[in-house]
Amino acid sequence: MALLGGIEAGGTKFVCAVGTGPDDIRATIRIPTTTPEETLAKVVAFFYQQTEQLGTLDAIGIGAFGPVDVREKSSTFGWFLDTPKPAWQQIDNLGVIKRAFNIPERFDTDVNAAALGEHQWGNAQGLETFIYLTVGTGVGGGGMVGGQPIHGLLHPEMGHIVVPHDLSVDPFPGCCPFHKDCLEGLASGVAMEKRWGTKGINLPEDHPAWALEASYLAAGLVNFILILAPERIIMGGGVMEQKQLFPMIRTQVQEKLNGYLRVSQITDSIEDYILPPQLGGKAGILGSFALAKRVLATPGQ
Ligand code: ZN
Repeated sequence: MALLGGIEAGGTKFVCAVGTGPDDIRATIRIPTTTPEETLAKVVAFFYQQTEQLGTLDAIGIGAFGPVDVREKSSTFGWFLDTPKPAWQQIDNLGVIKRAFNIPERFDTDVNAAALGEHQWGNAQGLETFIYLTVGTGVGGGGMVGGQPIHGLLHPEMGHIVVPHDLSVDPFPGCCPFHKDCLEGLASGVAMEKRWGTKGINLPEDHPAWALEASYLAAGLVNFILILAPERIIMGGGVMEQKQLFPMIRTQVQEKLNGYLRVSQITDSIEDYILPPQLGGKAGILGSFALAKRVLATPGQ
């Protein structure tokens, strides 16, 4: 079994781990995201220490908050780009790890990593085209098309699509600094808190906030379904911990499609089509393991 290193590079913390899979995580650490110098030095120190104790790692995977450069041929591959965290803009994350360990590595967005984790060990096993949407502080999406993680011009930014916003129903203007009322601006955890004056977790299950939230997320999903034709949609993140959202979202997706796309996954068994991640809170770190596994499975690496 290959010994894998994983880095879940988040905006508030970096979670690092060493292991071989979900049942064998041998060491893990949470490092607060402060300055790049301090944080990355602690990341490197952790893996040096683990290498001494557990042996040389076979590969390392990094799933990072974005935007990041995921284009392998780019001169800034593996860098953080113009992220909302100013200290981290134009920081070469991958290069630090490469120089320190010189082992096969793979770098991707945190949501593409989480999607790969679900593909390797969770609810996307055996699928070639699926998406993973995370709804938390922000809204982000990743996944695979035709068996490959979705990349292109950069990487998907599914949280920033335009969704219908009826101001007579929802006068909240939206909170995305770039677009105001994009999907993230209307449906992120931050949007919920700003709209209702309290965190979503404090709102009762029958509060109208949830039906409104479900309507925005369903509108987003309908667009993703029509464009990418995913075989399944996995929805994670802090907001999706509110399990009452799932039935509302499924019903609203069916209503918005209005009989279009007559496939049984949507018409008869939508509870298996739109569902939570199987890996739960470990999705991020196992996603980075999955990235590391993928680089080992790629010839020529
Ligand atoms: Zn936006």
